[in-house]
Amino acid sequence: MADSRVGLTVTQPDDRGRSSLGCAVWASRRLTSYPVGAVSEIAYSVRRSARARRVRVNVNADQGVEVVLPARAPERAAAAAVAELRPWIERRLGEAESVRARLAERAGTVPYLGETLQLVGQAGRTRVHRVGDRLLVPQEDPLVALERYLRRRARDELVPRLDRATAQAGTTYRELTVRGQRTRWASCSADGRMSFNWRLLLAPAPVLDYVVWHEVCHLEVMNHSPRFWALLESRWPRYRQDRLWLRRHGATLVL
Ligand SMILES: [Zn+2]
Repeated sequence: MADSRVGLTVTQPDDRGRSSLGCAVWASRRLTSYPVGAVSEIAYSVRRSARARRVRVNVNADQGVEVVLPARAPERAAAAAVAELRPWIERRLGEAESVRARLAERAGTVPYLGETLQLVGQAGRTRVHRVGDRLLVPQEDPLVALERYLRRRARDELVPRLDRATAQAGTTYRELTVRGQRTRWASCSADGRMSFNWRLLLAPAPVLDYVVWHEVCHLEVMNHSPRFWALLESRWPRYRQDRLWLRRHGATLVL
């Protein structure tokens, strides 16, 4: 990689392209034909991008279907792209719907490393405070405070795990950054700087452990070669199960 950083990217099982949390997906299939006048019942928006090299379709849980056109592409290329990618778009929209349904099911609660915490709104409260399995949150607009809380907690959960894993592996890391990127769970630079996504706290604890071990193994092998996966298996034997969980449920790790 150009910046000597190996990242664990958010991907969905059937994607051709790269996806991000919240189901934004890059359609990477090359578009060849432009059937003029092809009409689609799929509602979509069109955006022009000076940087786009080719037609791209994003399916996003919140924003729906968006077609990104290179500056000089003809307008009809958008309809053609939607028509050509229709089965894929419909599948992605179905997945987005299922994510929405799962988020609706857990309304009023927040998953935390496998626990279910009840949200209790309190007037006048600004900071989130945990009492047992309840999270006391600001009555109005709790999400900002909740994210701030989880970012703090992420550091507290990650540091002992990283310390333990690197001690066991006989390696060291330099620093830990907690991020909230939509497309990356974690990364490790060649000089040992670690970065983790706070959203991992919404996953079961072994999934967080898996991601920690994944990055710690990158301190020894900076790629995803068979040697890397063999090393990871020796350190975290159940990694396949946790990796699969992340692929299947990653899109639900949102507040
Ligand atoms: Zn990796």
